[in-house]
Amino acid sequence: MLKGILNFAHYLLEESVEPGDTTIDATCGNGNDTLFLSRIVGTNGHVIACDIQQQAIDTTRQKLVEHNRFNVSLIQDSHAHLKNYIDKDNEIGGAIFNLGYLPKSDKMIITNGESTISAIDTILDFLKRGRLIVLVVYHGHPGGQEEKNAVLKHVMNLEQKEYSVLQYGFINQKNNPPFIIAIEKK
Ligand code: SAM
Repeated sequence: MLKGILNFAHYLLEESVEPGDTTIDATCGNGNDTLFLSRIVGTNGHVIACDIQQQAIDTTRQKLVEHNRFNVSLIQDSHAHLKNYIDKDNEIGGAIFNLGYLPKSDKMIITNGESTISAIDTILDFLKRGRLIVLVVYHGHPGGQEEKNAVLKHVMNLEQKEYSVLQYGFINQKNNPPFIIAIEKK
């Protein structure tokens, strides 16, 4: 009955994004969300996918080639600099973040509160009304609690008239299960 975290994240993106939209994967990692967005925006849409690690960019590129997807701009840079890559006239149809570290990779390379919050605020400026930013918050690793607390504090204080902010997660699971934050621009 209840959707798991990743299923719910994709469900929300499908609700937010329309064919032809420009969308953002702020932490492309192994490219799973980038591929998903690439499919739902269709050939007339566009995905801006970024990650700080070369390995993540390479893996995502390979995944996209294997699936014949050519509507993605891959950017090796911090999402804190997203403003440099979004066309000023381009509104964003939806965005996703997966916080934490790249699975089976260096666990010291993690997202952090400061750059995550900066990226959220940039995307909110460009987000179409009625659309979503979806964050999957992993917080069991060293540094994860600090980022979780900083991000929650920031989004809980977004102006209620302008944004609806949802938290979705399973409260009886052990070992710091991930949860979702979804921000809708009203
Ligand atoms: N969504 C990915 C997937 O489908 O495989 C998983 C993402 S993984 C949990 C988090 C990613 O965030 C890592 O690949 C890491 O390199 C990246 N990252 C960390 N700090 C970043 C930053 N400031 N800007 C962009 N990416 C960052």
